[in-house]
Amino acid sequence: MVFKFLKTSYSNVKNALTKSGSLIGSKLRSLFHGPVDESTLDKLEEILYEADLGAEYARELTEQIRGKLKKDPSIKSEALIDEIRQEILQNLKKHQHSNEITESPHVILVIGVNGNGKTTSIAKLAHHYHQDGKKVILGAADTFRAAATEQLETWAHRLKVDIVKGHPKSDPASVVFDTVSAGVSRKADIILIDTAGRLHTKIPLMQELEKIKRSCKKTIPSAPHETLLVLDATTGQNAVDQAHTFNKFTPITGLILTKLDGTAKGGSAIAIQRKLGIPIKYIGVGEGIEDLQPFDPESFVNTLFE
Ligand code: GDP
Ligand code: GDP
Ligand code: MG
Repeated sequence: MVFKFLKTSYSNVKNALTKSGSLIGSKLRSLFHGPVDESTLDKLEEILYEADLGAEYARELTEQIRGKLKKDPSIKSEALIDEIRQEILQNLKKHQHSNEITESPHVILVIGVNGNGKTTSIAKLAHHYHQDGKKVILGAADTFRAAATEQLETWAHRLKVDIVKGHPKSDPASVVFDTVSAGVSRKADIILIDTAGRLHTKIPLMQELEKIKRSCKKTIPSAPHETLLVLDATTGQNAVDQAHTFNKFTPITGLILTKLDGTAKGGSAIAIQRKLGIPIKYIGVGEGIEDLQPFDPESFVNTLFE
């Protein structure tokens, strides 16, 4: 298990969720403290809605609790809260699959809209894999902006990992080809490929992703082993729209949801995964190199319900 050491500490996630006022456990406990009636259920829906779970899901969960109460009017408040917690957890777990690395080099292609946090997340991933004793190579396939290659290069030097880059404005697919080839000849364990930010509405740029993928396959037919879409949690519905379009052009294997330390509530992660049915693999909870966590539904939901 590559990320075992990360699982030991979910404290940066807790800090981020606390900062954005995302923790709903205490709100629910005080809500269900007294007698439960219709207005309690209205208030429940409001709390869930304000937690960014989405209007529809807030309503569904409230309906479920209404049903529980009808069946068993004397049900304990803890049992009601646990019902909500379990339902959310099962929903998140439904879409998760394991992050096993079965082949070396393991190629991870990172895509998304400009500014969502692709390059930073790659640096964080590189750091974690490197710390875990893996040989990491970065591919600077964001050839569109000169500053993009420099940004990744700065990280590569700081983290002491290899980087393959191309000439400014060169074909990103050719940088990808060179990176994957270098990864094979240098016996890398992990190849992380950065790509230029692209708006999901620009069709030629969406098609370029397929070319990039074909370029990966020339040296390693099973690559890319993961295609991770980076989404900014603070953009709400727009993040969902981005994911739908990217996924239509090039199948996404997982999401990196960044900026959960910002204005977005933790519930947005639940809403996004539920709407997309694509597993969240990592969450970004700050700008620091350690501020990326594997998304562990159990730890995440437990933190939310603290
Ligand atoms: P890219 O254009 O997708 O490559 O985005 P960058 O990696 O350059 O990140 C854009 C900005 O978002 C930078 O200022 C990052 O430091 C910031 N950023 C990325 N991830 C996070 C995060 O999880 N939390 C916060 N607060 N900022 C982040
Ligand atoms: P397609 O016809 O759209 O699939 O594109 P190509 O087959 O021409 O390859 C995509 C990109 O990968 C090209 O633009 C090349 O830059 C790069 N590429 C493909 N094969 C090689 C190769 O053998 N060496 C290098 N250096 N780059 C390659
Ligand atoms: Mg970038």
